[in-house]
Amino acid sequence: TPLRPYNFSAGPAVLPEAVLRTAAAEMLDWHGSGMGVMEMSHRGKEFTAIHAAAEQDLRDLLAVPANFRILFMQGGGLGENAIVPMNLSRGGMVDVVVTGSWSKKSLKEAGRYADALAVASNEADHHTSLPAPATWALRDGAAYVHVCSNETIDGVEMGELPDLAALGSRAPLVVDCSSHILSRTIDWSRVGLAFAGAQKNIGPAGVTLVFVREDLLGHALSICPSAFDYKTVADNGSMFNTPPTYGIYIAGLVFQWLKSQGGVAEMERRAIAKADLLYGYLDNNGGFYRNRVATQARSRMNVPFFLADDALNDAFLSGAKDAGLLQLKGHKSVGGMRASIYNAMPLEGVQALVNYMQDFARRHG
Ligand code: PMP
Repeated sequence: TPLRPYNFSAGPAVLPEAVLRTAAAEMLDWHGSGMGVMEMSHRGKEFTAIHAAAEQDLRDLLAVPANFRILFMQGGGLGENAIVPMNLSRGGMVDVVVTGSWSKKSLKEAGRYADALAVASNEADHHTSLPAPATWALRDGAAYVHVCSNETIDGVEMGELPDLAALGSRAPLVVDCSSHILSRTIDWSRVGLAFAGAQKNIGPAGVTLVFVREDLLGHALSICPSAFDYKTVADNGSMFNTPPTYGIYIAGLVFQWLKSQGGVAEMERRAIAKADLLYGYLDNNGGFYRNRVATQARSRMNVPFFLADDALNDAFLSGAKDAGLLQLKGHKSVGGMRASIYNAMPLEGVQALVNYMQDFARRHG
């Protein structure tokens, strides 16, 4: 039996236990320095080493090409919804593909800085499908095209990133990959900029990762805060202002853990196995539970599901808690349940969830 319950939170979310143990052991004294990581200058040799290792490990894990800069920023995904248009839009046109709650928020925020337009939307089917790229009404001369490659709330994931060039567009692609980063490879040849809040698949809230192609630096609007100007941040190696040092340290430990487990390829293999197990049950349980997302659009990371009788929701959740299965309540905008099964969730956790669901259905069916 595991030491802790299985935690299905969408984020902030479960971290590998080995990482938490290392952080606990190093809390008072990092590597004989006499200081905890929270207490170090971000410019000292100790933290400089932590930051450099984290950045290199991340670059290795995702095979990030040399012409992309990796920035450790603050502000989260919603911050980036403003920071991206301030840096990339030049006040022009921004095309947004609406696939769920998060891209909808990106569209609205970009509209404060640029001429933002939904060039495709799955709103009509309540964000349960993916509009085919060939149907996107991309505009000539758009400054960039924004997609969210995994919609955390709706449970919709792009199996591959769109090839904008093949669609006849010269615009760079901007990808919000907050909730599935490091669970699959990224085809950088299709990407101009990618960002991710850390609190789902990486580490503590407060760190935001930005991968930006070098030619996109240096075009920020004059209203852009200096601390959010990608060029300023890149020129200063993410140290223009004080970065979220402790979060970067934990992220670095997670990157080491990922490497020790076999890297992103192994995470993808595990993600497929976990998702197959859970969706397999959701599709074959006699109608007690159901997932509503189109098969090809289903997220491997965030699995919303519904009980046919939602009067049983509270009993389901309290029984789950007693069975050691935490934070399964669905997002309030969708209702029902949601199991987030990020890299740090073992297959055994998903099996325990399916076992509980079977038992609950037997008792209440
Ligand atoms: N984008 C995605 C895909 C997300 O899952 C989230 C957080 N749930 C956000 C953006 C917003 O991130 P934050 O709360 O860090 O601003």
